[in-house]
Amino acid sequence: MTVAVGMPDPEKDPNSKRDIQTELVDLRRRIAELERTKHLLEQQVSSGTPVSEMAAPVTTKEELAQTLQTFVRRVAMILQAEKCVIMLFEADTGELVAQFPALKLTDEEILAFRVSTTDGISGEAFREGHPIICHDCASDPRTIKDNVSLLNVRDSLTVPMIIERRNENQQVVERTIIGVIHVFNKRYGMKFTEEDIRLLTVLARNAAAVISSARAIILIQQEKKQLEYTLQSMTSGLLVISRTERIQIVNSSAAHILGLTPGTCVGQLYKQIITEDEVREFLSHAMEHEGEIAKEFTISEHVYAAETAMVRDEKRNVVGLLCVINDVTELRNVERMKSDFVSTVSHELRTPLTAIKGFTRTLLDDPEEEFYERDTRREFYEIIDSECDRLVRLISDLLNVSRIERGLPLQLQYDTVNIAELMEKCASFQRSYTDKHKIVVTTASGLPKVIADKDKVDQILTNLINNAIKYSPEGGTITVGVEDEGETLRFSVTDQGMGIPPDHIDKIFQRFHRVHSGDSQRVGGTGIGLFLVKNLVQAHGGAIWVDSVPQQGSTFFFTIPKKPPEKGTGIV
Ligand code: ADP
Repeated sequence: MTVAVGMPDPEKDPNSKRDIQTELVDLRRRIAELERTKHLLEQQVSSGTPVSEMAAPVTTKEELAQTLQTFVRRVAMILQAEKCVIMLFEADTGELVAQFPALKLTDEEILAFRVSTTDGISGEAFREGHPIICHDCASDPRTIKDNVSLLNVRDSLTVPMIIERRNENQQVVERTIIGVIHVFNKRYGMKFTEEDIRLLTVLARNAAAVISSARAIILIQQEKKQLEYTLQSMTSGLLVISRTERIQIVNSSAAHILGLTPGTCVGQLYKQIITEDEVREFLSHAMEHEGEIAKEFTISEHVYAAETAMVRDEKRNVVGLLCVINDVTELRNVERMKSDFVSTVSHELRTPLTAIKGFTRTLLDDPEEEFYERDTRREFYEIIDSECDRLVRLISDLLNVSRIERGLPLQLQYDTVNIAELMEKCASFQRSYTDKHKIVVTTASGLPKVIADKDKVDQILTNLINNAIKYSPEGGTITVGVEDEGETLRFSVTDQGMGIPPDHIDKIFQRFHRVHSGDSQRVGGTGIGLFLVKNLVQAHGGAIWVDSVPQQGSTFFFTIPKKPPEKGTGIV
């Protein structure tokens, strides 16, 4: 018997003999354990039952990760491999991508492990759909050497992950490969065998089925959530009622409009929980007649337009009723304001025309200048002239509004403007319209010259002073002021008139909005002046706002930059 130098001779050394015997017993126990596992797996393979951990339905990303973790560990244990990793196919990049979690691969290694389906053993197994054993990855021409050294791979077994769809006769009608599984580095110096291929193929099939159904479930859940978020964020109210008259879906807008609590009303009978009589009757009418009907309701001073449609299944059977509710208060207000506007504009056009017609007729009826002297006749001509100006102004305002509504820019002609002179000119012109008001201009000395559109600033000031006169029917002082704020000038026009109620403050700069529309016969106007003023100020790059106390008066402020804004100079 040959004994290696330095090795204990079991014949002579009883301790060493005992050690070897213990090791032998240990090895036998491990072999028996492996035999049992193999037997169990063979049973599962032949009966088609999946590995127990893979059988549980997976419905979340976390559950899938956990299942895969157990799976890779178990695969490595069964196949006596050191490492195990799943790679899934990504259609948009055309790559097989290593998945978390993998066994004995670092996070960096998993992230770096991506292979095109045209390359390496991964690509071949995926393309061809067959398993591949590689006994020496370092020298095998099929392997990608960077990955071999990245993952420290000696030998490998790779099988495709196949999903098969079968018909009722168990014939395969569709076969899809979703990726590959690798096991690397067979332990105890052993080699991967045909038996390993058989086992891993079955395990891979189970894993593929679990991954693909989990992905489908997760996708459906994501889509469901997405749909839910979309429905909930809709500004329109949405209500779905089942055939059995129970509420199935109610989004937050519908709940808000109808005063429902979204969490508790789903599943309830709509007739019991919708308290608005008109809405209830409207819904039951739609349910009974299975028709698409529309109606408007007023709830808490809001106007809502409701429309219904029947929900049908693929066989066109009615399964429920869908109702969409939109808040149309603003729309109806604008419509009302537009129709008010038509009547006020007609009135505003008729007033100067009546004056022009009256004075022209008077002058024509006195061709010999018998009744009216030269000075009176001149006064008549001046009235006709100023009424014509009024008409031109009104028409040009209307044209400007339509320009703004069409999204066209207001054209500005920049020039150097002497602000103090301009303010005084506007004030003195307006003084000629009133003897009830005192118009005071306060300008600080040393006001700088400003580069602006003179006519447009004139139009802004004229409009605000004119409003101050119109909306102070009892008279009072109107103060027109300006402050130098460095980059800009801040103008103010203050009156002691009727003021503006707080709930109208935000709206008076909207087109056609008139607070005192009921007084339209008494206080003439069209509701477009402040809308234009705001647009003219903004075209200069300034801002406009108002402070007002009802029955005490208002101050309109606006700013104009001393120089035109850098970009878009000239045209805004
Ligand atoms: P209008 O042609 O009606 O005067 P504006 O657009 O100039 O149109 O003004 C819109 C509304 O804002 C007016 O109808 C009026 O109700 C209110 N308003 C404007 N200026 C004043 C003011 N100085 N004091 C009180 N209310 C005002």
